[in-house]
Amino acid sequence: MNPRRILVTGGAGYIGSHTVRLLLRQGHDVVVVDNLSKGYRHNVPEGRLRELSLADTPALTALMRQHGTEAVIHFAAFIAVGESMREPARYFANNVSGSLSLLTAMVEAGVHHIVFSSTAAVYGNPQGSPILETFPIQAVNPYGESKVMVETLLRWFDEIHHVTSVCLRYFNASGADPEGQLGEEHEPETHLIPLLLRAVETGKPVTVFGDDYDTPDGTCIRDYIHVNDLAQAHILAVEHLVGGGASDKFNVGTGTGHTVLEMIGAVEAVTGKKVPYVIGPRREGDPPSLVAASHKLRTKLGWAPQYADLRTIVEHAWNFAVSRRAASIPE
Ligand code: UDP
Repeated sequence: MNPRRILVTGGAGYIGSHTVRLLLRQGHDVVVVDNLSKGYRHNVPEGRLRELSLADTPALTALMRQHGTEAVIHFAAFIAVGESMREPARYFANNVSGSLSLLTAMVEAGVHHIVFSSTAAVYGNPQGSPILETFPIQAVNPYGESKVMVETLLRWFDEIHHVTSVCLRYFNASGADPEGQLGEEHEPETHLIPLLLRAVETGKPVTVFGDDYDTPDGTCIRDYIHVNDLAQAHILAVEHLVGGGASDKFNVGTGTGHTVLEMIGAVEAVTGKKVPYVIGPRREGDPPSLVAASHKLRTKLGWAPQYADLRTIVEHAWNFAVSRRAASIPE
């Protein structure tokens, strides 16, 4: 793709920072908008960060005009399902109102393309597996619902303002930059792989949320996708849109699922250490199995995962955890 001027919201976060790195490597001119409420300054290369709130429509408009933005990749959002069940208003305000402000600025500034971070959570408890993009949309928590609402906003902004969009419905983003400089560091951490690695390091057991599901070993199945493969899907989506492609929605997963116990096995194989764990009760709202049908992304956007192997994903996450601890980079 020709070099493009791309504005990335949430570029200081986990998936955003990996995408920014790939975009820069591929020669694009990137500006990052992040209020650092969750992201980290150290994730953004020097000179690229604009510390702005998505609520500040005039500032976003001015930035897009000044930058000559051609497309937006929109990551900035709250992501914790459990928290969204306790504080729904915060999720709707940040995720939905923030997106509306961003879209308003895009229209003002004449920016016509957006790639949106959506989620498999839009399917709620899906009717089958693997999950197709045509499955019913029925979120079961405010986090998922906030993403459904933004997908709906996007439909109307296309219809009325000709802003084309690609919604990427992520499965389980995991792993880290192969060079070990970026990785997953949510606070608090709720995701399985970093928690398993932490358990190896601290010796404190991790809780497996239920082993009585109707799956081969009784634990939940998820589709773990390497964060760089996920990042690459965004770049292909931008390419599709700036090349005149129509608005669309894609699952982003590998099409292969793994149980929690398989993940523990992979972590033990990579680290050479036992993962201390206990079996606990089921986590509320956890569907037994979430695996993507990924052929739409493969055939329509030409996506192919480079790091589909579970061991590689865990290896990269482990390298990052080790290098992060060694460097203890100050905030
Ligand atoms: N999980 C677990 N213990 C934990 C965290 C997660 O057993 O401490 C399980 C969880 O039930 C799910 C899988 O690991 O089946 C992945 O969970 P995660 O929170 O990483 O992602 P989610 O699928 O909820 O987006």
